[in-house]
Parts: sequence; structure tokens; C-alpha cells
Amino acid sequence: METQPGKSAGARRAVLLPAVALLVLAALAVGLTVAARGPAGPQPVDLAARVDEYTAGFAPGTPYTVPDAAQRRAVADGVVAVLDGRPDEAGRALGPVGYRLTEFTEADSGRRVAEIADDPAGPGSARGWGRVYLDLSARASWSVQVPHPVSDSRTELLGVDVFRAAPGGVLVLAGAHRRAGPDGSGAADPAHRADTVFAAVTEALTARGLPGLQVHGFDEGSLPGQDAVVSAGPGRAGPAAELTADGLGTAGYAVCRAWREKCGQLEGTTNVEGRFAAGLGVPWLHVELAGRLRTEPARRAAVASVLAATAAGWRTPVTP
Ligand SMILES: [Zn+2]
Repeated sequence: METQPGKSAGARRAVLLPAVALLVLAALAVGLTVAARGPAGPQPVDLAARVDEYTAGFAPGTPYTVPDAAQRRAVADGVVAVLDGRPDEAGRALGPVGYRLTEFTEADSGRRVAEIADDPAGPGSARGWGRVYLDLSARASWSVQVPHPVSDSRTELLGVDVFRAAPGGVLVLAGAHRRAGPDGSGAADPAHRADTVFAAVTEALTARGLPGLQVHGFDEGSLPGQDAVVSAGPGRAGPAAELTADGLGTAGYAVCRAWREKCGQLEGTTNVEGRFAAGLGVPWLHVELAGRLRTEPARRAAVASVLAATAAGWRTPVTP
């Protein structure tokens, strides 16, 4: 290395040391500023990325715990309290069962969103009970339900797309693969088990009169030649079913209408949330989609805009 004439090594150190100290102090200051703001601070949150991160580890055989009646009730009470604009009460219901309420601005829609999710300081997501997102920008008037994230590939992202595409939505997301749990017996499948947090939350929303869209996926082999199946599950198909099927048809997809034809056992007639909605006469739709309509982003967006149009229709009270 070239040495500078006329400067001793000690003199060079005297110049260098304060500079290094300044750099260290500057780095510390930046670090402290970031820490004070926190990860969920004013930065908008990309809900698709957040949900993707949450569901990435879902798989058959991963842990799942059956919640008791009080635990299911507590989460449902928390969701209803947020719906009614009582966040303090929501927090009191959710805390004892290891859930917490947080709020953020959603990056894509720009809307304020409430998240009800496992408290990282609590028992954690290993229980597999799921999450709920509520749009705070408008009165809640419909829900989109995702009972089989990952196993019905990319329905979790379709749910996010629909939630973003129309105001007043509630996104109910299952917290485990449908075959989670030590024996994979289906205890974690909220479309067929009523003793789930997902079912309790959905039933509370339905009891408040919120219509629901439940999204599923099927393998092309189980219904060749069809891209989608629309049904009202155990209920009677009404205008929303017609509107949704027509919208998917206009988007270029082959749609099986379960109220007119047989659709390969994909009609959701035994669906837990559908039965509850049918019992109360609240509109509810069961939508089954072939793989490419869920996994290809452009097709998924087209489907989401059709479902969002159905949801938007539910925002306007039907005049007799
Ligand atoms: Zn499914």
C-alpha cells in the first residue's frame, strides 16, 4: 500500500477512528428509528403477501387443535365487536384465547383493514384456527370464505383478490390444511366440521345477515369440460347465483349451474356454512373453480372481479 509522506501511522488512526465512530452512531440511529416505527407501523401492508406468508406452511399432518365451544365463541364475539365498531370490546374477547386485533392500511386497495389473528405472544398459529380480515372503510355487508387454503390451491389469494375488489367485505380464512392434524381425519376441515373457529365466525356473520361467497377448487378430472360450478349449496339458488354464473360465462368460462344440471358432486350440498345460511334464508354461494382459474393470476383476477360484482350487489338492499 502507498504511504502518505509526512503523516505518521498514529496521525492516520487519529483521523480514521472518529470517522468510524460517526458511521457506527449513524447506523444505530437508523436502526432505532426503524425499531420505533415497528413492523406494522404506518407502512401499507400487502395483504396478498401477508396471507401467502401465513398459509405457506399449511400441509396435511401439520398440527391442529380442535377448539372448545368457549374458544370458538370468543373469536366470533371479537369479530362481531369489530363489525360494530367496538375494538376495545373485541380486544377483551380475543385476548384470553390468544388472538389479537391489529389494523393497517392495505397496500393495493388503500383501505383500512382490521386483522384478527393469532397473537405471536400466545399459543401461536400451530393451533390452526385461522384469521379474519375486515374492511373498515365501509359498513360490513358480505363475506368471502376460504375454508381450504393451499389444498384448494390459491383460493387463499382469490379470497384476497375478492376482498380487495369490493368494499364492505370480511375475509374468513381457515388456519390449516383440510387434512391437518395427527390423523388427517378432517377435523380441520371447516366446510364439513361445525366445531371450528371458521364455522363459528362465519355463522356469526350469517346471523348478522351478511351474505357469503365460499370459494373452492376442483381437479379438472372430476368434471371434464367445465371451468366452474356455481351453486347455493344446500340452499335455493337466487339472483346472486344467476349473476355469478352469467358473469363467469361472459368472462369466457364453461359454468355448471347446479340448479339446472348435475355438476359432479361439486355442489356443496353438505357444506356446514351453507346449511347455516340456508336455515336463516341468507344468500350464500358455493363456487368451485378449476385449477387454471385459481393459479394463473390474470384468470384469477377475472374470476375475482365477477365475484366482487356479486358482492357489490349485496351492498345495495334489495327493494321488494
Ligand atoms: Zn374445497
